[in-house]
Amino acid sequence: NSCEDMALVIKAADLAARRHRFQKRKDVRQTPYINHPIGVAYILTNEAKVYDGATLAAAILHDTVEDTKTTFEEIQQEFGQEVYDIVKGCTDDKSLPKDTRKQLQIDHAAEHSHKTKLVKLADKLYNLRDLERATPIGWDKRRVKEYAEWARQVVSRMKGTNEALEMALDDIINRLLSK
Ligand code: NDP
Ligand code: ZN
Repeated sequence: NSCEDMALVIKAADLAARRHRFQKRKDVRQTPYINHPIGVAYILTNEAKVYDGATLAAAILHDTVEDTKTTFEEIQQEFGQEVYDIVKGCTDDKSLPKDTRKQLQIDHAAEHSHKTKLVKLADKLYNLRDLERATPIGWDKRRVKEYAEWARQVVSRMKGTNEALEMALDDIINRLLSK
């Protein structure tokens, strides 16, 4: 029920905040990393009108395994199979070279579950807005465009998932690519 959903989401926020505690975003102002997963969940409620507890908890947890010592086993035990499946779908294997990881996201985009696609779309939208707001340290215009072009390829394979997200992604990708 919705009270249990709320408890799951708060539990996710607590774990993500602790695990990302010392991490910063790549912008010049070194924004706390936790702003990102919270913002991804907020895009889902506010813009995509998604209120499913597992999807929102997974959105908040989506970078904990990729970027912190958090394990998939822990996510499965503490948050259950559904949250685990979504987080797994959102986690890149960091032991692979970056180019391979980027290509694998394109190759597997269409195969993900509906809920995983929602989190992946909101994640891309948040990151593209971050890039438009402020260019990360060490990035030039070309790299921002390369990122937008890669995002376009991933997102184009998840069409039919959520109209609001897809329209917002289309707009920002076109804007970044025409700069
Ligand atoms: P990265 O994967 O290195 O960086 C983007 C990721 O960083 C995001 O997906 C996001 O991931 C995270 N992130 C943290 N802070 C921010 C922020 N403020 N704004 C946006 N994202 C943030 O980028 P890519 O490797 O994809 O680089 C883009 C393109 O540039 C690629 O196509 C690549 O080929 C090319 N490239 C160019 C280089 C160059 O020097 N010219 C070097 C390397 C790549 P999360 O959601 O996990 O936080
Ligand atoms: Zn992310």
